[in-house]
Amino acid sequence: MKAILQEGLTALGLSIEAIPALERYASLLAEKNQVMNLTAITDPAEVARLHFLDSAALLALADFRGKSVADVGTGAGFPGLPLKLLEPSICLTLLDAQRKRVDFLQEVCGALKLEAVACVHGRAEEFAQSHREAFDLTVSRAVAALPVLAELCLPLVKVGGFFLAMKSVDTAGELEAAGRAVDLLGGRLRKPMDYSIPGTEVRHRLIAIEKIRETPKKYPRTFAKIKKNPL
Ligand code: SAH
Repeated sequence: MKAILQEGLTALGLSIEAIPALERYASLLAEKNQVMNLTAITDPAEVARLHFLDSAALLALADFRGKSVADVGTGAGFPGLPLKLLEPSICLTLLDAQRKRVDFLQEVCGALKLEAVACVHGRAEEFAQSHREAFDLTVSRAVAALPVLAELCLPLVKVGGFFLAMKSVDTAGELEAAGRAVDLLGGRLRKPMDYSIPGTEVRHRLIAIEKIRETPKKYPRTFAKIKKNPL
């Protein structure tokens, strides 16, 4: 894992200082994954590439320095926790609807003595009631299709901020379908940014949505409505 991270982080132009913390995180993840379902990826080299370097790649595509960031549907902490380890000036909120996952994240943050990280058990559409337009950035990976995800994530973003969605490169249909939702929610789609995970052939896409207007108060709706009738 160490050599892969060294090479990958260097290729991304990032410091290798956080490697010991990433290794500790990986071992806590492997240990907990024995007793609960946190990730399907268990090979350490794959964890390094598909979780850590995939998350780290965002730092080369957007400016996270000193930003308040919410990771919506963070699961075992991706991409939020690697971002925080690699860019400690981030003020991070890790949000997930599954209590056990949030408990795990709390343990990791304690073990790594991280500051300015809130691990929150909750649903994004409910969290938005109390944290409307409160974040510079929201990020999300592997949670929902873009029209649904935009309604979960854009209400949390300040005007002038961004929602960054991590997707596969095969998203032309999803992007088209999300146009109306993004507009209704006060966002504007930027040109998608495709990237390769260093040391792999894997290509992913970062979809940046700029928040240009306040989100109308009627959004987000309840999850039942969002799902049944995406914008
Ligand atoms: N982002 C992580 C986890 C993806 S799995 C990764 O890429 O590895 C999707 C996660 O989203 C699950 O942990 C699930 O509990 C969470 N989730 C789904 N809908 C949500 C919602 N409305 N609010 C908060 N979390 C949600």
